[in-house]
Amino acid sequence: MPSVIDDSCVKCGACAAICPVSAMHDAGSQLVINPDNCIDCGACIAECPQGAIANDSEASEATVKFNAEKAAVSPSFGD
Ligand code: SF4
Ligand code: SF4
Repeated sequence: MPSVIDDSCVKCGACAAICPVSAMHDAGSQLVINPDNCIDCGACIAECPQGAIANDSEASEATVKFNAEKAAVSPSFGD
């Protein structure tokens, strides 16, 4: 199950810097995670100073949907 980012993200970029598969996308006001790329390593969850990242099994349905929909139409972040 992929990780997802909620709206407390401040776009510091720390998660994108350590993600091994460049799964973060720039959704404008926040970053989101592409569920098709995320390999569920969990590394970004501990990295976020905002506590904005969680496994999708522990996130709201709206957050899971937002990440999937925005990642599909937003540019990669940090490439
Ligand atoms: S869980 Fe791992 S692969 Fe998935 S977005 Fe976070 S750092 Fe990247
Ligand atoms: S580490 Fe957290 S606050 Fe920083 S860009 Fe990633 S999700 Fe957003």
